[in-house]
Amino acid sequence: MSTKFIFVTGGVTSSLGKGILSASLGTLLEARGYQVTIQKLDPYINVDPGTMNPYEHGEVYVTNDGAETDLDLGHYERFLGISMSQANNVTTGRVYSEVIRKERAGEYLGKTVQVVPHIIDEIKSWMHKLAASDDYDIIIGEVGGTVGDIEGLPYLEAIRQMRFELGRGNTCDIHLTLIPYLEAAGELKTKPTQHSVKTLLSYGTQPDVLVCRSEYPLDDSIRYKLALFCNVPPEAVITAQDAETIYEVPLLLQEQKLDDVVCEILNLKNEQKTDLDEWITFLQQLKSPKKVVEIALVGKYVELQDAYKSITESFVLCGATHQTQFKIRLIQSENVNSENVAEKLKDVSGILVGPGFGERGIPGKLEAIKFARENNIPFFGICLGMQCAVIEFAKNVCGWQEADSVEFNPESTFPIIDMMEEQKLISDLGGTMRLGLYNCNIAEDSLAYKIYGTSQIQERHRHRYEVNNQLRYKLREHGMQFTGINPETDLVEIAEIPNHRFFIGTQFHPEYRSTALLPHPIFKAFTQACIEYAQEFGLVEEVKPKRGRKKAASKIW
Ligand code: GLN
Repeated sequence: MSTKFIFVTGGVTSSLGKGILSASLGTLLEARGYQVTIQKLDPYINVDPGTMNPYEHGEVYVTNDGAETDLDLGHYERFLGISMSQANNVTTGRVYSEVIRKERAGEYLGKTVQVVPHIIDEIKSWMHKLAASDDYDIIIGEVGGTVGDIEGLPYLEAIRQMRFELGRGNTCDIHLTLIPYLEAAGELKTKPTQHSVKTLLSYGTQPDVLVCRSEYPLDDSIRYKLALFCNVPPEAVITAQDAETIYEVPLLLQEQKLDDVVCEILNLKNEQKTDLDEWITFLQQLKSPKKVVEIALVGKYVELQDAYKSITESFVLCGATHQTQFKIRLIQSENVNSENVAEKLKDVSGILVGPGFGERGIPGKLEAIKFARENNIPFFGICLGMQCAVIEFAKNVCGWQEADSVEFNPESTFPIIDMMEEQKLISDLGGTMRLGLYNCNIAEDSLAYKIYGTSQIQERHRHRYEVNNQLRYKLREHGMQFTGINPETDLVEIAEIPNHRFFIGTQFHPEYRSTALLPHPIFKAFTQACIEYAQEFGLVEEVKPKRGRKKAASKIW
């Protein structure tokens, strides 16, 4: 079977949840036995989001092969349980760099290089490249932004051409749109969607399916009106209703037969019964927590929750495993000091210090780590969080007050966190960190070994600095153990304090490898330690019964 393409475009406004729609539809098609992947097509000019401030863009998600990508790829992996790669994230920056590279190399044989055909062809070649691997029956292409945005035009033209070239039955266009409710009129309004579909039509694409975000269910008359004026069959008008959790969306869409409609359009006649049993069990557990346990997430980007998306989602997913709701207390590290640390971290059952860059908020992170270490509270440090744990240990346990990272103190006389040798010659910031999967060997008598149950693992990285190998033995003498080491480079991957109930720091990012059905083992073990701590100190809270109507759907996915 040749690869089929589904394109997801957005109308009326951004932030309607094209990523969750794509991931949910992917989950449904996967459950029908198809091999599915999702490609994000982002119209910005950055080559990738790696150089963007987290406040600007949220988390940068890293794939096995070291692509720094949009956080939607995290949703795709968590829902589908498969790995994304460089080829799954296309940006205008990447497209243009490649076209300009080819032009300089003379590959266009003297032609004038233009948006049409060269940029459009380059976009299509990214779509075909994924299909050429023969690994996928269906590729879902999610176009960032909203129909009508100037920068999105080349993608819409590429979609139009793909639809023309591949012919009927091989592509499906889904338009995700908003049906606002006007309080004053007491009515749901279809006009913005009609306009959005008209705009899409003006670029040559007639959507096959409308997925309508709405605070209220759409009744048959509204669905009919949308179908009539947007020229789609009434059964292809799908309501994207309110959901308690994003992980419920696949089931809500299945109830409305979105997968049937799409398979019909794509001429997919697989009779296999949709197997969502595992997903349904996971969802039931997720929605029926038996207790609440509070964990602190200390970082400097906490004002924007998306900055720690994979971490907060990992906690949500572990919630299903342990049937516990993990309430996350977000703590701005800049506001933590030795006077208020006990107050800020009062009654939490675990402390996670997150990844980050630069010196802002470092003293607060060190205080939080000291508090966790001295009070025997479960601690988990990720990347910068692990580096800070090493610095804190060097300062406060070994007594080396000068200990620091050259990232925030290049003059430090005790650079316990140093720049990697290979990084010293690099001046460009984009795509030049240690990125993607690296090997790690685990010491057998360690917490890490207990967690993984194996001595050889691979995890994803995104960092420039490392524990200083010349100085690390000094920490070992004082009780910090480096239980995970990269066998090729001898770099520290995992640090632990064995005489603490649960104290682990990882140079890598385990949060990128949690999936809905398989949350990451370190997160599972950490949250289990938090539950045990909460039980021991009477910090387990009751689950509050849900009251009243949920907030607007747009808040939720
Ligand atoms: N800033 C640190 C480094 O580059 C940590 C990076 C991170 O937390 N992802 O090594």
